[in-house]
Amino acid sequence: MKLNVKNIRYLSGDDWRVLTATEMGSRNHEVVPTPLISQLASLRAGGIPRCISNLAKIGLIAKVKNAKYDGYRLTYGGLDYLALHTHTKASTVYSVGNQIGVGKESDIFVCASETGKQLVLKIHRLGRISFRTVKANRDYLRNRSSASWMYMSRLAATKEFEFMKALRDAGFPVPEPVAQNRHTVIMSLIDAFPMRQISAVAEPAALYAELLSLIVQLAQHGLIHGDFNEFNILIEEKVDEESGEVTLIPTVIDFPQMISIDHMNAEYYFDRDVQCIKRYFSRRFGFTSDEPGPFFKDAIKTITKRIDVEVEASGFSKKMAKELDNYMKEHGVDGDAGDIEKAEEDEDEDDEEDGASDRDSEDGGVTLDGSTGLSDDISSAAVKDDEQS
Ligand code: ADP
Ligand code: MG
Repeated sequence: MKLNVKNIRYLSGDDWRVLTATEMGSRNHEVVPTPLISQLASLRAGGIPRCISNLAKIGLIAKVKNAKYDGYRLTYGGLDYLALHTHTKASTVYSVGNQIGVGKESDIFVCASETGKQLVLKIHRLGRISFRTVKANRDYLRNRSSASWMYMSRLAATKEFEFMKALRDAGFPVPEPVAQNRHTVIMSLIDAFPMRQISAVAEPAALYAELLSLIVQLAQHGLIHGDFNEFNILIEEKVDEESGEVTLIPTVIDFPQMISIDHMNAEYYFDRDVQCIKRYFSRRFGFTSDEPGPFFKDAIKTITKRIDVEVEASGFSKKMAKELDNYMKEHGVDGDAGDIEKAEEDEDEDDEEDGASDRDSEDGGVTLDGSTGLSDDISSAAVKDDEQS
């Protein structure tokens, strides 16, 4: 989905109030009646139509004719703007640049902080219509409720952020969690590519052992990743300056489908994560180990810490977990794992598809702050320009 941030700095304070009012109204109304928007925004009556028309013109809200009344609904674009606005006001994000990933349930962008530090903006988009299964689609349309996609996307972002924090604290190699708002997560940019894009590894045995050990260590912390595959493992190459030796350092990402070791099907997901790595190393790097396992039963014999329990007690409750779980099951959200076997059938044709592309371009992207009045061109070096002014 497109994220066109160029209009963000042209919105007036009143526009933001009306956008926020539409969001508030949509908690209880599929279509928010215009008078309710007015009331929630509490602007002078005369100001409302103009703001509504501004917001509708750039697609942040959309007019809907209901059987009973006319009103508006917040669009994904509107929700994106609200989240970005919050990140900007909190001085977390200053500009947004290239899109580096498109998933089924998320969009990933590079962005920058005020100090020019490169970050990643992950926008969760649950409920984006999948064209793959017509039936699921029809079911989706029947159950469509804006509250549900907004709420579920927010749950996914909350879950991802809470787990990233806990994993990071426990010393796991994950990005640094920076902020979360609505359906978005801001994290550090890992200067690495998904393992999917690495064609050869000098010593696969070492990396293989490290990845399987991560799966085991996660289980010892109460967790199963649930989507531990070549798309969700970023590999950084570190070259030792003296010896010239290359070490591969993995970072694990993508946590909305993480489950507890107490989950009914925990063993199945644990085995699936293990098999993912085994199959990939065999197919891509021609590496197979003689050692069986690791096995779930052995892994959970030594429990170091219960991150699953810890997270439940803090930011992501059992109730939220259940809601998200049910929604994902109902809508066939199953990470990338389900697609991998299929992808391997038409192997090697789709290597370019999953896109970490021009990451290394020098873009500062588009600033979100109305004050600078910079170019609309998404590739303008906004951060640098600003330094000069
Ligand atoms: P999805 O849920 O859509 O699979 P992911 O979190 O797996 O989303 O991200 C999709 C892609 O975006 C990854 O495969 C990777 O190429 C890129 N990506 C995501 N997060 C980061 C990050 N923190 N640093 C660098 N690249 C990232
Ligand atoms: Mg992923």
